[in-house]
Amino acid sequence: SVMSSKPHALLVPSPGMGHLISLLEVATCLATHHNFHATVLVVSSNTSPALSQVIQSAKSRKLLGIIELPAPSGHDTNAAGSVFTHLPAIMRDVRPSLQSAISAMERKPSAMIVDLFGTAALTVAEEFRMLKYVTVASAWTLSLLLYAPILDKQIEGEYLDQKELLNIPGCKPVRPEDVVKPMMNRKDREYESFIRIGKEITSVSDGILINTWEDLEPTCLEAMREHPDWKQITKVPLYTIGPMVRLAGQSGGGGPRNELLDWLDKQPRESVLYISFGSGGVLSAEQITEMAWGLELSKQRFIWVVQPPSKGGAQGNDISEYLPEGFMARTHDKGLVVTTWAPQSEILTHAAVGGFLSHCGWNSALESILNGLPMIAWPLYAEQKMVATLLVEELKVAIRPKVLPTKALAGREEIEMLVRKITEQKDGDAMRARAKELKASGEKALCVGGSSFNMLSELSRLCKINTEQQCRTVGT
Ligand code: UDP
Repeated sequence: SVMSSKPHALLVPSPGMGHLISLLEVATCLATHHNFHATVLVVSSNTSPALSQVIQSAKSRKLLGIIELPAPSGHDTNAAGSVFTHLPAIMRDVRPSLQSAISAMERKPSAMIVDLFGTAALTVAEEFRMLKYVTVASAWTLSLLLYAPILDKQIEGEYLDQKELLNIPGCKPVRPEDVVKPMMNRKDREYESFIRIGKEITSVSDGILINTWEDLEPTCLEAMREHPDWKQITKVPLYTIGPMVRLAGQSGGGGPRNELLDWLDKQPRESVLYISFGSGGVLSAEQITEMAWGLELSKQRFIWVVQPPSKGGAQGNDISEYLPEGFMARTHDKGLVVTTWAPQSEILTHAAVGGFLSHCGWNSALESILNGLPMIAWPLYAEQKMVATLLVEELKVAIRPKVLPTKALAGREEIEMLVRKITEQKDGDAMRARAKELKASGEKALCVGGSSFNMLSELSRLCKINTEQQCRTVGT
């Protein structure tokens, strides 16, 4: 007989904090609201303190099964650089241990969920007759990934050198300078891998889970599902399951309350700008200097999470070397500089925070929106330039420097102006109102009867059916 009608989902994030955090969130939602049993398999080596903390905190909540798998030998999961070649190789080589881990499970999973870099691992799911799903960030960045194999044939020369916008049927065209990192050099192996994943994602999966919701990106979603030019491309159902974001209170793990939050308690409502460049964002030494001057000139309150310009150097973690002389002393009643992992979800929820200067990682962007906060978009790499454009032009919840921060230095006067706009002027209020509207629409999507809730219910139904079929084929 069927052991239990509760479907079991196995989530296998590729190495990296952002990937782990977003699949943990999906797992949590499946377990809390959709009656799933969820197990997260963490592939890693040399775990950083921040990563260990996230894993520990997930374990201590006891909601999910958490299994740690050592990374396959010969790979360093902390290595930076070409994620599109590096991570798929890890997820390919981890297959034997993934297979053993699943064989050892008493309750066999009925679905495997991986992120963009984990498509190779889906062959293991196939062996166990599991359903196979791939998670991606936004619908618009997905449209570029899926359409890239066509652009590859249509366009000659580097995308960055194109004079015209890159046309994606039915979707907002992409500015050549905004293309995702692996499309910046067509001769690089990373590009090859990106194109391969763009084809693979719809041929090896049973569906794509997008961390967005129907009302956030309606046009692009409709195009990928209905537009005639997309018919041969999309192939599998697109499930919008977002906004999957961590809510405050989930990341602390019961430790002492962070001193940043104590400081925020003493600041006026919506007065503090939070500044962070995600788990991997680094500014140049010159840009750090301009940022510091811009903040100081603006006279606004801030929490600035900043990494030294080059990691692993002899300088260690002493950020004060890169800040203007006396900056800390002059701003000590206005702001805090943090060089460690910050409790971002708690900070963004705090009533004293009024804006977010962000590198536009998709998780950060959604966390900002779900807290009704306007942003200064400061994209650095990956798909962040597209996200910045989406936030500024489509969603109208952000402003940005005139020139891409990766192309030219943003000067102190411009930074001062952006910070003031967000924190004290009418512009900030209009964007804040817009962010609050989006927050309400995102929350509605997740509630019973909302679009994302319904998509997840459908997934749960399919997984239950598959569980029964798996049981039948093994003769239980
Ligand atoms: N984050 C955090 N503390 C930090 C930096 C990042 O808690 O000091 C979290 C942040 O809340 C988000 C994730 O790490 O959930 C970063 O994901 P995102 O997609 O924004 O950027 P990535 O790190 O992948 O570039």
